[in-house]
Formats: sequence, C-alpha cells, structure tokens
Amino acid sequence: MRDQISDLLEDIARHSAPGAGVTRLPFTAEHQAALVTIRHWMETAGLEVRLDAAGTLIGRREGPPGAPVLLFGSHQDSVRNGGRFDGIMGVLLPILALQDLQHEELPFAVEVLAFADEEGVRFPTALVGPRALAGRLDPDCLDLQDRDGVTIREAMTGFGLKPQDISGLDRRNSAIIGYVETHIEQGPVLQDRGHPIGLVTSIAGIERHQVTLQGQSGHAGTVPMHLRRDALAGAAEMIVAVEGFAASAGDVIATTGRISVTPNMVNVIPGDISMSLEIRSADDDARRQAATTIMTTFKAIAAKRDLSLSAERTYAQPAQPCDVTLKERLASAAEVISGDVPMLPSGATHDASAMAELCPMAMLFVRCRDGVSHQPDEFAAEADMQVARRTLSRLIRDLAADHHRH
Ligand SMILES: [Zn+2]
Repeated sequence: MRDQISDLLEDIARHSAPGAGVTRLPFTAEHQAALVTIRHWMETAGLEVRLDAAGTLIGRREGPPGAPVLLFGSHQDSVRNGGRFDGIMGVLLPILALQDLQHEELPFAVEVLAFADEEGVRFPTALVGPRALAGRLDPDCLDLQDRDGVTIREAMTGFGLKPQDISGLDRRNSAIIGYVETHIEQGPVLQDRGHPIGLVTSIAGIERHQVTLQGQSGHAGTVPMHLRRDALAGAAEMIVAVEGFAASAGDVIATTGRISVTPNMVNVIPGDISMSLEIRSADDDARRQAATTIMTTFKAIAAKRDLSLSAERTYAQPAQPCDVTLKERLASAAEVISGDVPMLPSGATHDASAMAELCPMAMLFVRCRDGVSHQPDEFAAEADMQVARRTLSRLIRDLAADHHRH
C-alpha cells in the first residue's frame, strides 16, 4: 500500500454522490464502494475482514487464544458535501499503524471498526453500529425513515445485512482493552497552539431547547415604537445575552443556530418567533446551571418586553469523559512521537461517545486547517496525519509492553 495517507484518502473520496466534496450516506452504493476500498486497506495490513449485522466493517488481527481485544475506529460516512478527512481518516490511520506492526507479535487481538453512520444525515438517528456493540440499541429505532420513506431496517436489508441479528452484536461480555478513535479536531485550537495532534479529555454533553416567543404583529408604518411588542427584537436581545453569558462562563458554549420569524415580511412587526438554543459543556453540572441561568435571563427579557415565552428542552446527552488510564497511555505515546501534547475537550459527538458505554475510551485529535470541517475544503496535513499514525503504533507497542509486564 502506498505510504501517502493523503493519496489513500483521496482515492476513497471518489466514492461519493455527485456534487462538491464528499457525500457518502450510509447503506448507499457509495458506502458499498467505500467498503471495497476499506476492505482492501485492511487486507493489505494483514487483517481478517468481516461486515457485522449493523454494517460495521471490522478488520481483525487475531491475538493469542483467550486474549482481550484492543479496538480502534471511526465512521465511513460523511455529511452532504463534506470533506475527505472527517471519519474516514480515523479508519485509515489505525489500519496503517497495524500495517507498520505487521511483523511484530502482540499479546492481544486488535480490531479496526469502520462504522456505517455517525453523522445522522440520512436517518433521524445515528451511531447504530457502536450502540449495538454496547448493547444500547433500542431496536425500534430501525423503523425510523429517511426522507424517501425508507426505514433503516429496509436500507440495511437492501445493503445485504441481517438487521434481525443486531441484538447478537452486544459485546458487553467480552474482554476489551479499550476503544481509541482518531479524528480531525473540527475546531481551531490545535492550529492556534501550533501542535499537530491533541488528546481529548472528554466529549461534551449537549442539550437543546426549542424556544418560542409571542408578541404582536402589526403594520410597520402605523404602530408607534412604544406600543410595539416585537418578538424578533426580543429574540435578538436574548441571542446576544446567550453569547455574552457563554463567553464569560468559560466552561460552556451556547448557540442559537436556527430561528424562524412570523410573518417574516419587510413591512410587518414580527409577532412570533421560534428559535433553538443549544448548550454544550464537558461538565454536566455547568451545562445544567447554564440552562437555568439563560432561562432566567430569557424570562426577564420577555417580561420587560411583554412577550409570552415558552421553552422546552428537546434533547439532552451527558458528557462522556475519556478513560483516565487509556488517555494517559495515549498521551505518553503521543509525547514520545511529538513532545508535549495539548489536552482539549471535544465539542462534537463521535462514535467514541457510544463506545464509552462499552469499554474504556480515548480520542486523539489531528489538527485541521482553520478548524474547518463538514465542508469540501476540510484539510489535514500529511505530516500531521503521519504523527497520528506513529502515535497509534507506539500506543499499541506500549500496551503490549504493559501486558507482558503484568
Ligand atoms: Zn466525524
């Protein structure tokens, strides 16, 4: 296999629906084609390859009888018009790391997992593969449909899978050393600190709220300013308050990413607003406290402007800290390869979030240009990816040495 990681990623990026960048949704022809390429990578590295019932392609290097397994992986899918690195790079790098160790003996088995669906673009759920391994999959979710009315179950069956066998994937009773995921950072922190790789401390928890505001619409020419109940002006004050609060809080980030205005006309005072509020933090208490504080502020703004406010929490997912021991092993491997490595939380969810329910989890971030992701110009440098590859090889060697010592 050629040694240039960028070339290999460019090869597999061809397996995309038409349009700019990479569009590779789960259980599509593009997914099928990508699996042929990943299978080839895995076989070249000497791995045994199989596809599990949830569509996770698994490359395994066998260990001694009864030995535990060390897991690596990430996802094969992309967002619509996404980049060449998000997900797939975390599948390729551990395969290359294992290729580098092909002639060394290891006291455990190693698997690389290429999950089908992390982005959740096609179906209104995601992480079916890792949740199945963790025994955390509600089988009812297989009835969720894509926008053409195709259920996950039907898509899987059409892909040649047997979704009825998913319950058998539960690995809670098997010996697993841990799961390590490598991913582009999707943020600008490593670039800012001038470092090729970073260690994830924790995957942030998320909560989302749907907020509605009701005022009074009216003619933009005839209603004097002091008699208005402008819902959009109230929302604007709230959005700025959220930004100011999160900027000063330090341990939370908060965003209003979506807003709809009714009637949304140039000469009518906006009467109704519906908007999102999303709060993320590596600290669940800080996140909950932030939500309480923000809602108190919203109530005060609504009262002052005589707007009626309602807010409902529509989604919550707790933070997922990385395993302290595995993170330290990964950190010491990273330090050998690239010196003092920054630690940072992950603001984005990953397959690792679900895998943490199964076994010790750690994550390695690779610097990406300007923090850009989910876009065609997403970019990670060859040299940075090579540092990550060598870090993974080093980690496997270090864990093997630990194993021999015990
Ligand atoms: Zn990803």
